[in-house]
Amino acid sequence: MSIRAMTKANHLLHQHYGYDTFRPGQEEIITNILQGRRSMGIMPTGGGKSICYQIPSLMLPGLTLVISPLISLMKDQVDELNEVGIPSTFINSTLSAEEVNERLHLMKERKYKLVYIAPERLDAPSFLQQIKRLEVSLVAVDEAHCLSQWGHDFRPSYLKTPGLISELFPEPAVLALTATATPEVTLDICDALNIEEDNVVQTGFARENLSFHVLKGQDRDAYLKDYLNRNASHSGIIYAATRKEVERLHSFLEQNGVQTGKYHGGMTSSERDEMQEKFVYDQLQVMVATNAFGMGINKSNVRFVIHYQIPRNIESYYQEAGRAGRDGEESECLLLFSPQDIRIQQFLIDQSNLSEQRKENEYKKLQAMTNYCHTESCLQTYILDYFGDEASNPCGKCGHCTDERETEDVTREAQMVFSCIKRMRERFGKTMVAQVLTGSGNKKVKELSLDKLPTFGLMKERSQKEVSQFIDYLTASQFISMSDSSYPVLQLTERALYVLKGDLTVERKKEKQPVEIAPSHPLFEQLRSLRSRLAKEAGIAPYMVFSDKTLNELCLKLPDTKAEMLSVKGVGEQKFENYGEEILSEISRFKNEHPELARNSAQYTPPVQRPAKKRSPGEKASHLETSELFLQGNNMEEIAAHREITLSTVQGHLLKAMDEGVEINPMELADETKLKMIQEKIAEIGLENGLKPLKEALPEEISYFEIKLAMKCGG
Ligand code: ADP
Ligand code: ZN
Repeated sequence: MSIRAMTKANHLLHQHYGYDTFRPGQEEIITNILQGRRSMGIMPTGGGKSICYQIPSLMLPGLTLVISPLISLMKDQVDELNEVGIPSTFINSTLSAEEVNERLHLMKERKYKLVYIAPERLDAPSFLQQIKRLEVSLVAVDEAHCLSQWGHDFRPSYLKTPGLISELFPEPAVLALTATATPEVTLDICDALNIEEDNVVQTGFARENLSFHVLKGQDRDAYLKDYLNRNASHSGIIYAATRKEVERLHSFLEQNGVQTGKYHGGMTSSERDEMQEKFVYDQLQVMVATNAFGMGINKSNVRFVIHYQIPRNIESYYQEAGRAGRDGEESECLLLFSPQDIRIQQFLIDQSNLSEQRKENEYKKLQAMTNYCHTESCLQTYILDYFGDEASNPCGKCGHCTDERETEDVTREAQMVFSCIKRMRERFGKTMVAQVLTGSGNKKVKELSLDKLPTFGLMKERSQKEVSQFIDYLTASQFISMSDSSYPVLQLTERALYVLKGDLTVERKKEKQPVEIAPSHPLFEQLRSLRSRLAKEAGIAPYMVFSDKTLNELCLKLPDTKAEMLSVKGVGEQKFENYGEEILSEISRFKNEHPELARNSAQYTPPVQRPAKKRSPGEKASHLETSELFLQGNNMEEIAAHREITLSTVQGHLLKAMDEGVEINPMELADETKLKMIQEKIAEIGLENGLKPLKEALPEEISYFEIKLAMKCGG
């Protein structure tokens, strides 16, 4: 990129997003686009793909079209973009024909820089005609693996993309993006979109803030309950393989006092939307779901993703698990492995209407997924190897890298189990084997004369459940395999035969205990609830206001001034304008109430030269000082001038003081007829969707401040 263009891109990154530097790959991709080269970006989820087309969209003369299959995500993406000051919209099947025409019209008028469109649109010739008449500078193909039959999510409509591109004049730049591309898929995409191999930019797949864990041979329900109790204040997703299992887990957790949402294809779409919205808006911390959930959410503060069952391949696993920690904060990905579940996935592949060749391919992928559950080395390295990423050092944080549990020699017990299975001629399932070993008086055991076996009651000092779990452990450790029949029987593997001969020992580690995800700064919760309120007022999701990462950094830096706050990652000009003052006054209040902590964090040296104004503990909070000046008869402009703060800060202070019960008459702050008009609008359209629709329905000169005042005189 020319130095000039690079400076411009950096400036835009800072101004709109509040970030200082590009992440790996972003700059290279942006350079390619600005120089008109067709290119492809392969970056992990959360790697920052969106910025690769969003920044160019601001620099290119024409429109940027983004083709994306994630219809339910579009509205959020557009909200986020408008939040950071990039005019954009979307066109998909949720809109009426008039709405589509209206948007197309505005596209012609160059009112947008960026437009998301669903691939199905490309099937409509009339739509293509309209697009052809626009100046399109860039076509970004998101989730580009959908173009490939070898991908895990092939969408036939995607094949229309090359046709669309070839019809555009002048020829636009092209960018394909995906998080999961095996070499075959990459080739397919490059072929279809005419991208040269040299212009494929692949960053590492590693997600450094994720720690991977596999739990096997343990009571999953108990573990899950414990985990959720310990991490009650964090947001997470639990994936199960079937609707039935989602229902079961959901009621199990509810019965145990853990509130969760649920989401699967068997629910009505309005039920699903409601659940999803609650989750995104932080009203529900945990969602139990099938893999139908998640494609449409961009929520960045998901702290853990737990797979209750093995997913079908590493691609899906990494994509689903990767929904944790998009904001870059430390997050956990847990897989609760139980060998029976492999059969569910086999069944699903079997029942699918894929060709024999593709079924074969899917079985291979499932095998790689199973191997992940059995590997004893670094889990992150395993995944990276799978995607052909260069071998790296062990991650140092996954379940294997950090495993310091003591091991116990259980060879003797294992031999008892194996010889019992052998005596039962490898014709029975887990329950029967456990019953025989514990000497159960079960009728069936007697009828089949299994109580005559020498192994009957060999482990009678153990409970049947304990023995069952031990069998699970041995299965997960590949000493026992399960037949593929509808009634799975236990069979011994070669490894078990070595154990029986005394050539191999069996070790078992102590059970894993769930750990707590790091506790947050005391200010964090306060900022989080302020964020919820601000989001509600703006009619957007909390994470769109600021990410958890930004909140954490605010807690560490405790900024006092605009300049200090702008130095926090994720705070751009537009965001500061919308929310800065309220956040700053919350922080100043916190510092007042916790002088101890304020001093600790003050070790941080602000990047501005001017010494930050610090209040001593005895001093009045800033907003109260403002309200006092107001009550003494000064008007808002006078206060702003006197205190050297902006008018909007004064307004924020007064609203806050009123919130806290300071008696100020709203009529003294705004025109009475205006307030009446606002109140009428509130009565008409309500407040359920936040303040944004209200603001839009009112004349332009009405400010948010006046709307908030009107809400106060309403009660
Ligand atoms: P992807 O689409 O690759 O999954 P996103 O584009 O949603 O990832 O980005 C993930 C997160 O990383 C977002 O919160 C985004 O704002 C943030 N991000 C992107 N680029 C940067 C950067 N250069 N510096 C800091 N954060 C970034
Ligand atoms: Zn590791």
